Amino acid sequence: MGKLNLEVVTPEKVMVSQEVDIVVAPGTMGEFGVLEGHVPFLSGIEPGELRFSSGDQTERFLVTTGFSEVSDNKVSVLVDAAEKATEIDAERARKAMERAKERLSMDRGKEDVDFLRAESALKRAIVRMRVSEKKI
Ligand code: ATP
Repeated sequence: MGKLNLEVVTPEKVMVSQEVDIVVAPGTMGEFGVLEGHVPFLSGIEPGELRFSSGDQTERFLVTTGFSEVSDNKVSVLVDAAEKATEIDAERARKAMERAKERLSMDRGKEDVDFLRAESALKRAIVRMRVSEKKI
């Protein structure tokens, strides 16, 4: 039985709220794992795979950008978007990747904000494709 309470929340909904044994998340300083008894901890989250296990069940999610807090055997992950790996629309991600690449290939002008947005979109798209294709 799980000893940690995991919550993955987006602005739209609570994607995960359950007891788990272990969580592995994509932190801004690198991937980190949390087991029962982990010290209090704060980390930014960057686009990547979040996975967790309960008994012999493992689940994988794509998460985008946000932050995570570990405290009192509770792991809270607040992110802009999260999708179960099996529910990622890989074709949509591929199209998003193409759009972002096209923007990035244009002459770099004064609209740097658009380049940063395109870079972020490219990263999300690539990670979505990677997480959607991976088998457990
Ligand atoms: P797109 O340009 O295709 O919208 P995006 O990276 O800009 O991609 P986000 O802003 O990260 O999209 O997400 C907007 C909403 O759409 C979120 O609810 C997210 O979960 C969902 N979403 C985005 N891309 C996908 C996808 N490939 N498969 C499933 N859901 C997706």
